[in-house]
Amino acid sequence: MTPTTPEQALAELHAGNRRFVTGVPRHPNQDAGHRAAVADGQHPFAVIVGCSDSRLAAEIIFDRGLGDLFVVRTAGHTVGPEVLGSVEYAVTVLGTPLVVVLGHDSCGAVQAARDAVTTGTPPPGHLGAVVDAVVPSLRLAADRGVTEINDIVDIHIAQTVAALLANSTVLAEQVAAGRCAVVGVSYRLSAGEVRTVAAVPAGGSTATVPGPVAPAGSAATAVTA
Ligand SMILES: [Zn+2]
Repeated sequence: MTPTTPEQALAELHAGNRRFVTGVPRHPNQDAGHRAAVADGQHPFAVIVGCSDSRLAAEIIFDRGLGDLFVVRTAGHTVGPEVLGSVEYAVTVLGTPLVVVLGHDSCGAVQAARDAVTTGTPPPGHLGAVVDAVVPSLRLAADRGVTEINDIVDIHIAQTVAALLANSTVLAEQVAAGRCAVVGVSYRLSAGEVRTVAAVPAGGSTATVPGPVAPAGSAATAVTA
């Protein structure tokens, strides 16, 4: 059965990830019969807004197949108008009940942004757009005294969840109406498992932005851009 609620969709993703992690994937919906069955229309149960990293292939790490996942990927899961439009298409036209922001440890886009900020050297070409989209997360991390790269990644994932809702009235309305949820998960490259770092349930409106907070009185690492 194709999941029709945010809870069912998230449970299906976690079940597939467990199969992948434990080395017993079923590779569902990848056969010729299913290919023919979905040729006339799609009803994906989750939108994945993921990092483009080559080790983060959504259908593999969630053990799914054709027609299951509506995948939008950019370096560092940065969000621009085309990404927002793609997400809105899935949740409104296709009726997809769950949006997942998929980031990962050792994210090169986050590292590149930190390097650019640290050195004061903007990256060449359009890579600057990726860096610019990550910088607000770096500032938030600095405000919290967070310096470990993977903790910064978690903050950036949560910030991407917040950015989706803040910049897409259409998505925010779907969530507020209880038809869709938005979840941020962090993937570990070596273990292959995902961990939830932010969640806005159906009917909710506020992103939970996690991450270690600097103890009172401690000095936050300065980040300037
Ligand atoms: Zn990445």
